[in-house]
Amino acid sequence: MTEQLAIFGGTPVRKTKIFYGRQCIEQDDIEAVIATLTSDLITCGPKVEELEGKLCQITGAKHAVVVSNGTAALHLAALTAGFGEGDEVIVSSITFAASSNCVLYCGAKPVFADIDPETYNISPASIRRLITPRTKGIVAVDFTGQAAELDEIRAICREHNLILIEDAAHAIGTKYRGQPVGSIADMTCFSFHPVKTVTGGEGGAITTNDEGFYRRLMRLRTHGITRNQEEMVHPTDAAWYNEQVELGYNYRMTDFQAALLVSQLRKLPAFSARRKEIVQRYNEAFAEMPEIIVQKEIPESDTTRHLYILRLDLEKLTCDRRQFFDALYAENTCPQVHYLPVYYHSYYEKLGYQKGICPNAEKFYEEVMSIPLYYSLTDEDVEDVIRAVKKVTAYYRR
Ligand SMILES: *Cc1c(COP(=O)(O)O)cnc(C)c1O
Repeated sequence: MTEQLAIFGGTPVRKTKIFYGRQCIEQDDIEAVIATLTSDLITCGPKVEELEGKLCQITGAKHAVVVSNGTAALHLAALTAGFGEGDEVIVSSITFAASSNCVLYCGAKPVFADIDPETYNISPASIRRLITPRTKGIVAVDFTGQAAELDEIRAICREHNLILIEDAAHAIGTKYRGQPVGSIADMTCFSFHPVKTVTGGEGGAITTNDEGFYRRLMRLRTHGITRNQEEMVHPTDAAWYNEQVELGYNYRMTDFQAALLVSQLRKLPAFSARRKEIVQRYNEAFAEMPEIIVQKEIPESDTTRHLYILRLDLEKLTCDRRQFFDALYAENTCPQVHYLPVYYHSYYEKLGYQKGICPNAEKFYEEVMSIPLYYSLTDEDVEDVIRAVKKVTAYYRR
């Protein structure tokens, strides 16, 4: 006898809904923000500088530039890389659209690489097949927080003289061969959106070891305006003088967001450890279920996981992903899907991208959903999620 699913009138596994992600803001975070609100500078002041220092310390990068969100970070990185009209940039196909939109912002063309069918990260073999004389760079995403195959991707970049932007929006706290993400690629971009591991409400950053990139990023963050005489066309030591030398933006972060992030980053080790614990518990529970495929973990990546992907072996089930998703949702374990292959979006379709170009990504999309993973989930919550997955699986078992 299988239990009646809540979606067909049965009793849900739990009474209250759990969503796939949630921020953790505590009293000390709140106090840090309030203290900043009454200080002299409330935007791009000392807290932003402190946050940049903290990010350098955590990632081991020489420089960090804090910006208003992760998309702004990607935009400035793509501009600084020099991507433009006529250039091709190879991008992961399974990611948030911002990873590839940043290439479009610069007038360059995103070229979608397929994923590895087991790790779900961008496949180096697929990258190699897509390189042409017009290829200028790669945007590699550390999907779910697991580092992409950075050694091999960097080798490809060296061979073909490409710039590597690592989209580490999922991966703050992750290490690759013992080295923190943020100090490995030419530029690494982070996001501090509330579903990510640490948050500033909104927020983003770029880290780099390259002095030239750093200066350009700093300039582009504030309208392309510089106060550095070395960068001016008409240098003067007049105290009031600043000069716009290129077309930039206002991508600044406020000091109260930076204060929240400095406070949050103190808790990164705890956030990271709890996420690892939950991932381990899920892996254990799902490893013994033939209907569920567990994401492969590469030994090179010591992963602070942002997302937990529940992947269905549809041959062993009588339902499709949609039915499983809806049933799980009704049990009050509310999943989300990460991600639609970027080129499935109608905007990309209009640009001429067609289905069929990344078969592994397309199959992945039909079979997955992300289940709750965040710091403040209790052990009880985690067991509820597992029970809900087991209940739905039992119902649809072939
Ligand atoms: C969240 C996210 C972004 C964008 O970050 P925002 O801060 O929301 O602008 C970019 N890439 C990936 C992979 C993300 O998950």
